[in-house]
Amino acid sequence: MPSEHPWRTIPTLPSNPSPPAPVCAWPHGHHAALFLSVDVDAETAWTDDDPTRTGHLVSLSFGGYEARVGTGKMLELFRQLGLSATFFIPGWVADTYPAMTEAIARDGHEIGHHGYHHLRPDPGSAFIEDELAQGFAALKRRLGVVPVGYRAPGGEFCEELRAALVRHGIIYSSSFRDDVRPYRHRLADGSPGTIELPVSANFDDWMLGLSARFSPRSIMAPRDVLGMWRDELDEVAEWGAMLTTVLHPQVSGRPMRLRLLREFLAHAMARGDVWLATGQQLAAHFAAATAGD
Ligand SMILES: [Zn+2]
Repeated sequence: MPSEHPWRTIPTLPSNPSPPAPVCAWPHGHHAALFLSVDVDAETAWTDDDPTRTGHLVSLSFGGYEARVGTGKMLELFRQLGLSATFFIPGWVADTYPAMTEAIARDGHEIGHHGYHHLRPDPGSAFIEDELAQGFAALKRRLGVVPVGYRAPGGEFCEELRAALVRHGIIYSSSFRDDVRPYRHRLADGSPGTIELPVSANFDDWMLGLSARFSPRSIMAPRDVLGMWRDELDEVAEWGAMLTTVLHPQVSGRPMRLRLLREFLAHAMARGDVWLATGQQLAAHFAAATAGD
């Protein structure tokens, strides 16, 4: 029976038949917004979908690079450029690496929620509430932070999570891949959800610059990525849109990847019309611009 086919219930967002127009003007006459965001997953990136990986020490050591080298190098770069970013940090990382996460907070960067053990929020997962509650508790305990931003670990999301984020007071999510502008989620009952700051899939450094036994893929040369990133930003500015980076210190904190990031950020800053902002700043701007809609 076609009506019982499960694919009949694929959830969709309202479509937009006309070419995308800027949803709101960016502050100070900027033509584009760049949400500079970093996911500090450390070892949880390797253990989230398979607990047996805790015995694979070289695979885990990709994650260990963050506390030893990668995060410090990224913080140094952002200090040199005078930039504030948003760091999404799993609670386990805050508990395990207090010196690293305190250094992030001390530099004035925004701290966002990224689960506790970085467990992927699949539909029906028994861990959704636990991951949220434990993540909040760890960031509060270690850093004194109550995050307003959330990024779904493992790049997945579900309807239960959409409602849970509102219940927990999260203001914005940065997880979806469906727009180049901020928008507001709708819950299944039609009530308003969090603001979404969509991720730009081409700016996930993991997909471009890391290959390992449990995450094998071809990597792209930094010079090719730089051309791709510049082109995307320049076109985003033509559209009046935004882009969102998803950087990991275990990737972008490596020497050639840090050089790439430095050159890309220099290009973005040299344009003079790109608003480099944290998620909290972008969400506040969107909320003010759409108040009363
Ligand atoms: Zn992550």
